[in-house]
Amino acid sequence: MERQDINSFIERNLKNFSVNSTGWNDLIGRMLSELIAAGWNIEHDVFGKEKFGGLRCYIYSEDEELNARLKKITHKYARLSGKTCEICGGEGKLRIINSWETTLCIHHFIDQKPIMEIDEKQNIIYEKKPVLNLEDIVKAEVEFDLKQLNLYIKNSINTDEPFSFSSQDPNYYLLLKAVPLHLFTEDIQNRISDLFQNLQDCEICGHKAIYHQSCLRCHNEPWSASKYHEEEYGEKLEYIKECQMDIFIDEDGYEEYFEYDCSFEKNPGHQILFTPTEIEEYKKLLF
Ligand SMILES: [Zn+2]
Ligand SMILES: [Zn+2]
Repeated sequence: MERQDINSFIERNLKNFSVNSTGWNDLIGRMLSELIAAGWNIEHDVFGKEKFGGLRCYIYSEDEELNARLKKITHKYARLSGKTCEICGGEGKLRIINSWETTLCIHHFIDQKPIMEIDEKQNIIYEKKPVLNLEDIVKAEVEFDLKQLNLYIKNSINTDEPFSFSSQDPNYYLLLKAVPLHLFTEDIQNRISDLFQNLQDCEICGHKAIYHQSCLRCHNEPWSASKYHEEEYGEKLEYIKECQMDIFIDEDGYEEYFEYDCSFEKNPGHQILFTPTEIEEYKKLLF
């Protein structure tokens, strides 16, 4: 078959893929080439789309053997799409933006879900743009066990639309600490003070972020917080090592995003306990 025919088949069929951007074009092109090489008749169009952050390709043949070959190829590219940014084609991960799943590199993820910061003038800012000044807040409340913060300014006090922040976003606890305590009801004031006064060092991630036997930064429990730890890991060193390796591998991209989090102090003496050989062995077990 002529290269030219393959190219025009790819060009024509790219339009049949309902995807969010152009980042997967190269991936789709390679998949279409492989489908042809496997025996697909180029007279017939191929269709596909993005679903839950992955590439889906709908292709079927009555010929069972061909069908098996086609499936193998489309599955391979579905897997590859899960690691490819939908916008730029760079290395991506499955991310969740307001309950919508999408595969993005860290830069395009932050474009969609900017990091909140607080500047020296007490402004809460996103992408250098202030959205709210801490001094303008007239009422503050928390929900979901302090994991969501709602802030009201004078104009929004009687509406149901506060400025809301979630612990799933970097710098959340930095903000919670910065909001003047007297804006909360008294029992919440006590809970917030208790949280910031009783944080303990986490030996796993190295942040002073353990509260009520769970790390607010890496979400691991300290050793022996659960009776299963000893059963499963035998000793503390093995437990910490494995949790640290999971952080390092960062399968869900959480660490990459939370690198920008300044909520908790870092312990300067924190130690990474696994060796390069151990992480290689561990990856082999996982993937
Ligand atoms: Zn990207
Ligand atoms: Zn931690």
